[in-house]
Amino acid sequence: MHAAEFCHETPDGKMQCDLCRHFCRIMPARSGICKVRSNIGGRLYSLNYGRALSQSADPVEKKPLYHFMPGSSTWSFGAPGCNFTCRNCQNWQISQATPELLDLPTVAPETIIENALRAGCRSISCTYTEPTVFAEYAIDVMKLAREAGLMTVWVSNGFMSPNCLDAIGPWLDATNIDLKSMDDAFYRRVCGARVEPVLDNLRRISRSGIHLEVTTLLIPGHSDSPAMLERLAGFIAGELGREVPWHAIPFCPELSWKMLDLPATASGSLETARDIGRKAGLFYVYSGQAHTDTVCPECGRTAIERRPWTFGAATLRLDDAGCCASCHASLSITR
Ligand code: SF4
Repeated sequence: MHAAEFCHETPDGKMQCDLCRHFCRIMPARSGICKVRSNIGGRLYSLNYGRALSQSADPVEKKPLYHFMPGSSTWSFGAPGCNFTCRNCQNWQISQATPELLDLPTVAPETIIENALRAGCRSISCTYTEPTVFAEYAIDVMKLAREAGLMTVWVSNGFMSPNCLDAIGPWLDATNIDLKSMDDAFYRRVCGARVEPVLDNLRRISRSGIHLEVTTLLIPGHSDSPAMLERLAGFIAGELGREVPWHAIPFCPELSWKMLDLPATASGSLETARDIGRKAGLFYVYSGQAHTDTVCPECGRTAIERRPWTFGAATLRLDDAGCCASCHASLSITR
């Protein structure tokens, strides 16, 4: 077992975990909401350190990151557990940690890096589950990635504590954060969380220089109302920046944990989200499989063509600086 960082003892003898905004106060022989951090004999332990799941090379576009090293591969991995309990979760078999998952053999951080280099990846991605709840492991991998010349990515729900964000910031190059809704009631009802900490972290990340993209899953009847999406797109454009890419993605009920009875997202909802994002002033709005290309906001030419379904970038029309090859305007691309 790996002793947890990001914690302190409270005056009443509990251990408070300081890793995410739940700030669980954990009694001896109990675990936090994520089920992967336990108070054992008065000390907090990370039960998922090194339990790497589902390692594979992915197109970085699959994260989704469309403006970060387009066309490259990223070595993806996650560890069991999540601080959310999203009813729509498509990875619930690994995000809701079980004793069997926490008993997997340990994968050393060095092994992740070796696998990434062997596969020809240019970055590593902490993904599939929530990186915040395996932050100690993620940080050890990210430090080695830097030494090996690899970039680093988090795909996250954005509910980490300020301490956690400060700790990962120096090692993190890019992140895609889920902004699931602007409604706190949605976050409480569907995810067992709150929206304000996510908005606060998005503001912090946008000021930090870390490459940021935002994703919203359009769940019919829950997170697809035009009025809410107008607020959400307005928040991105007004507070994070018009150049921050926004991905509106469809919901697949058959893959969900507890929303099997809902319909799939209608193509009309994806089109509506795209119109809303553009009206809000966002330069880059991607929705479903119909709108995956990057169009230069200056000259209107297609700068990156992507193959729907396979995620990879098919054709890059960029100059050496990653700007539009036609007019050399910035496309906010990190290469
Ligand atoms: S990571 Fe979050 S959910 Fe897990 S124990 Fe810590 S504060 Fe609680």
